[in-house]
Amino acid sequence: MQKVEHIGIAVKNLDTAVPLFEKLLNSLCYKTELVENEKVNTAFFKQGETKIELLESTDPDGVIARFIEKKGEGLHHIAFAVANIEEEMERLKKEGFVLLNEKPKPGADNKLVCFLHPKHTNGVLIELCMDRK
Ligand code: ZN
Repeated sequence: MQKVEHIGIAVKNLDTAVPLFEKLLNSLCYKTELVENEKVNTAFFKQGETKIELLESTDPDGVIARFIEKKGEGLHHIAFAVANIEEEMERLKKEGFVLLNEKPKPGADNKLVCFLHPKHTNGVLIELCMDRK
């Protein structure tokens, strides 16, 4: 794995969370994007090499809505950049990690992504992401 590409934070409402993070980070949100297949609206900030991704559910039954219901708002996942997502998925599978999707799927910010089951990563949801060519 390469660097931490971004940190995902679950929020109830982007309309209030975006201005709050703009104040906190002293930088402007540079992009918002709807990821329809994940039922989330996302907003991105760039802090040096690393991005912050705010996630708002677009559906009361979406994964982010259910996460907030269970745990409240807050840290949702850590995403690592990988050079070859298929190779990395294969390697992690061999190491006994459980992948939440068998094939890389399209994510926000023009990425291919795969999530690892947090049960096998000390409760931390890990995302692998690779730039789509
Ligand atoms: Zn993410």
